[in-house]
Amino acid sequence: MDLTAFFKLNYGLYVIPAMDGGRASGCVVNTLVQVTAEPARVTVAVNKENATAQAIQNTGFFAASVLTEDVPMDVISLFGFRTSREVDKFSEVPYQIDDHGVPYLCEGTNARFACKVLECWDVGTHLLFLAEVTDCEVLGTGHSMSYAYYHTVKKGLTPPKASSYQKSTPKTTGWRCTICGYIYEGEELPPDFVCPVCKQPASVFEKI
Ligand code: FE
Repeated sequence: MDLTAFFKLNYGLYVIPAMDGGRASGCVVNTLVQVTAEPARVTVAVNKENATAQAIQNTGFFAASVLTEDVPMDVISLFGFRTSREVDKFSEVPYQIDDHGVPYLCEGTNARFACKVLECWDVGTHLLFLAEVTDCEVLGTGHSMSYAYYHTVKKGLTPPKASSYQKSTPKTTGWRCTICGYIYEGEELPPDFVCPVCKQPASVFEKI
């Protein structure tokens, strides 16, 4: 089986926020898909280990922000590679609150959706949510970011927890961050090293 066939699939990039017990969380996914128009429904797959997946399961609500090509990489690093259990992600970005009490981004985005969960399936590493869109709005004119643009132009990484992650065999020797996929080139990883992308310590790196 040639797994690089999966690289031929096109995706967008989205921030999926949720709010559970007064605590906001949010993560980056490429798995938001409109499945029907009437009624307006979407599916999204979120890694079970993400605080956001738990928050959606607990509350039955999430939002979706469509990221644009001009979104700062800091925003993607924040939502994609850090955990909402340690960082209050929405304290670092401008946001507004939807009718379900869920925050959504106001910058680096061109549209947002307010979603109410109808069904949830355990699909292994991820939870797959089917949701009704109860509200949506265009927020800007920027181009939606494609996953290909994120990789080729923004030089973005795919974290191991992503639906589309594939373990590559790097050409260099070094250390790989198990959280975000960042590669440190060099034989020895300094013990006080901090990942420049996800801010995690040397202990989360594995030898490659
Ligand atoms: Fe990292």
